[in-house]
Amino acid sequence: MSGRVAVRDGLWREDRDGTLTLVCGHCHECSKHHFPAMGNCPHCGAAGPAETHLGPAATLWAWTTVAVAPPGYEGPLPYDFGIVELAEGLRVVTVLEDCGPDSGVHFGDPMEMVLHDLHRDGDGRTVVTWAFRPR
Ligand SMILES: [Zn+2]
Repeated sequence: MSGRVAVRDGLWREDRDGTLTLVCGHCHECSKHHFPAMGNCPHCGAAGPAETHLGPAATLWAWTTVAVAPPGYEGPLPYDFGIVELAEGLRVVTVLEDCGPDSGVHFGDPMEMVLHDLHRDGDGRTVVTWAFRPR
């Protein structure tokens, strides 16, 4: 069997035109966004935040290169990792592409959301997650 499978369902969506967005929550009480979407706002605890879709544009906020696999990580090493800020001010921890020590990226650089191959599962499918890379 082959194909591609999301590392976890419901984290992002891809529109028919290929536009990628993260599936986030927006709280009607405190007006803050969060990711991933949850049944209660993680900031104030209010029930029933609205689902909203943020991205694909972001700016680079923090970044590093990971050389030792964290628990449960089966992808290639090293890889780039950090935080991007979406236009709505929500900061998201994310895998990064092309942000290594020699990449020349800077704080605030424009980024775009992409899909990122992690590893193959036991059925030979490519496990995919979201990532951001310089635009
Ligand atoms: Zn809230």
